[in-house]
Amino acid sequence: MEKKLLTIIVPCYNEEESLPLFYNAINEMKEQLASVNIEFMLVDDGSTDNTLEICRQLHSADERVRYVSFSRNFGKEAGIYAGLEKSKGDYVVIMDADLQDPPEMLPEMLAYIESGEYQCVATRRVSRKGEPPIRSWFARRFYRIMNKISNTDVVDGARDYQMMTRKVVDAIVSMKEYNRFSKGIFGWVGFKRKWLEFENVERVAGESKWSFWELLIYAIDGIVAFSTMPLILASVFGVVMCVVAFAFIIIIIVRTLIFGDPTDGWPSMVCIILLVSGIQLMCIGVLGQYLSKAYLETKGRPIYLVQEEVE
Ligand code: UDP
Ligand code: MG
Repeated sequence: MEKKLLTIIVPCYNEEESLPLFYNAINEMKEQLASVNIEFMLVDDGSTDNTLEICRQLHSADERVRYVSFSRNFGKEAGIYAGLEKSKGDYVVIMDADLQDPPEMLPEMLAYIESGEYQCVATRRVSRKGEPPIRSWFARRFYRIMNKISNTDVVDGARDYQMMTRKVVDAIVSMKEYNRFSKGIFGWVGFKRKWLEFENVERVAGESKWSFWELLIYAIDGIVAFSTMPLILASVFGVVMCVVAFAFIIIIIVRTLIFGDPTDGWPSMVCIILLVSGIQLMCIGVLGQYLSKAYLETKGRPIYLVQEEVE
C-alpha cells in the first residue's frame, strides 16, 4: 500500500530562532512517523527578521519543505488558511513554530487518524503554567461566556495544534469568511473529534506575539463571529428599560396626583439619564461591531496575499 502524505503546516511570524529547532525536532521523530511521508508547509507571515531566508534554506536542503511568504503580516489565522489551502497531504497537522505544540504527540495523533475512527485529533492544554495569572483568569471567563452564548463548541485551552483528514481540511477551506476565528471554525465544521491533553510548554526561543490588548480584541472578534447573543441582549435591555420607564411614569403620575408637584428628585434624574444613555451607547457599540464585520466581509478582500512561493 502506498504511504499516505502528512502535511505539517507551520505559521511563522519572526521565528528565525525557533524554526530550525522546530525542523530538527520533527526530523528526530522520523522513526515514529515512518508510516507516512511528510511534507512541510511553512507559511511566512510577513516576518521582518530572517524567517523567509530560513524557509528558503530549508527548502533547498530538503525538497519536502515548501513555503509561501505573505506580502505583509496577515495574522496567524490567515497563515493557517493559506497552509490548509496549499496543503497536499491526505492528513494535515497545524503546529506552532515555537515547539509549544509538542511533536512527541504526533505518533499518537496519527494512530487515531489512521484507525479511521476519528476525522480529527485536537489538543488542549490542561495547565496555563508560565502565563500571567490575570491572563489565565480572563481566558477562562472568555471560554465560559463563549460557550454559554454560542452554539459552536469552543473548548477551553484548545490549541490550533490538530491533525485532520482531507475531508475536514476541505470543509475548513470552504469557509471563506474574512474574519477568521479558527477555534470557532474547527468546532463549527464538526466531524468526529478526539481530544488529547497536555501540560503547557513554554516557547523555545523568541517571544509571544500576543499582548493582553490583542487577546482582548481577539476574544471580542471570536464572540462576534460565532454568536449573535450580544444583539439579542441589546434588544432585551431595551425592552427592560422601557418596562422600567413605564412603571416609573405611572408611579410619578400617581404621586403627583396625591402629593402635588414636588420638584425634588433631579439628582436621581441625572443618574437615570447617565445610565440610560450609557446603555444606549453600549448597544450601539455592539451593533457597530457586527456592522463593521459585515462591512469587511462584503468587501470580499482576499484573506492573504502571496509575495513568494515554491511548489
Ligand atoms: N504567528 C503568525 N502570525 C502572527 C502571529 C503569530 O503566523 O501574526 C505564528 C507564530 O510564528 C507561531 C504561532 O503563530 O508559530 C503562535 O504564535 P505565538 O507563539 O506568538 O502565540 P502563543 O503561543 O503565545 O499563543
Ligand atoms: Mg507560542
